[in-house]
Amino acid sequence: MGRTNSILSDMLIAIDGPAGAGKSTVARALAARLGLTYLDSGAMYRCVALAAIRSGTALDDADALAALARGLEIAPDADRALLDGEDVTEAIREPEVSAAASRVSVHQEVRDAMVERQRALLDSGGYVVEGRDIGTVVSPGAPLKIFLTASPAERARRRAAETDQPLERVRAAQASRDARDRRRQHGALRRAEDSTEIDTTGLAVDQVVDRIVAMARERGLVAR
Ligand code: C5P
Repeated sequence: MGRTNSILSDMLIAIDGPAGAGKSTVARALAARLGLTYLDSGAMYRCVALAAIRSGTALDDADALAALARGLEIAPDADRALLDGEDVTEAIREPEVSAAASRVSVHQEVRDAMVERQRALLDSGGYVVEGRDIGTVVSPGAPLKIFLTASPAERARRRAAETDQPLERVRAAQASRDARDRRRQHGALRRAEDSTEIDTTGLAVDQVVDRIVAMARERGLVAR
């Protein structure tokens, strides 16, 4: 599929939604299609979680976690995640880190540190960003906001296939992570009022990407 040119320089597509809804796959494909940069904000929280586990920082110690987060060098590149120069792409996908990421990310101090970095990156324009609070907190003015969902069964099936973990275990882990992400006080997982919800259950990646590209065209964000 060719790249579509004539992108507005401040173009930003925000993709939020629960775990396993297809955000990463769709956001990556969309960025490639439109010639935009992909940013995985979840990888940043995962890096903080990994650093906390390694340093023995308590996951409920907001101040210590914020100090830790502020001191880390995190480079969430499109394909690899670097933490203080170390390639942690695989390490941050471990189930223990997934669970810890949703625990460190409840703290406002940690979120403030990450949101500040995300905004600094996005300032340069031309991004597809995925996360939980992109359309609500990080970039409420984003010209296109998508909220991706899928049935719990489908979300668990996808993640189990990706990680080789037993389906029931994945489903339980996703349910508790989503519950924590939805009920936290700061940057909670919720659909922005001006976002478009797409249920990806039973849809192929290309179908979802086509739909979002069509929306971007309709809004004059990319050339027709
Ligand atoms: O997107 P991913 O599943 O990799 O995110 C891991 C965890 O990081 C989420 O469960 C959530 O707790 C946290 N997160 C967040 N805000 C974001 C992205 C991720 O709180 N923008």
